[in-house]
Amino acid sequence: MAQVCEFCGKKPRKASTYKKIRSKYNPTNAYFQKPNLKKVKLLNGKKIKICTSCWKKMKKELLKVKK
Ligand SMILES: [Zn+2]
Repeated sequence: MAQVCEFCGKKPRKASTYKKIRSKYNPTNAYFQKPNLKKVKLLNGKKIKICTSCWKKMKKELLKVKK
């Protein structure tokens, strides 16, 4: 299971921490920043993985439809 948002295609991206060594800031630990994924069941019964920022947008539109 890849950690990719099925709505916007957000992927894990590389990032690094900076540490002060010998009076200079140096990149030290490289790591991956993962998207905040959430499993969501759609109205037609299909289950997809989407990031929470997409979920927020979806929620807003669903509320608009209900009103
Ligand atoms: Zn997304």
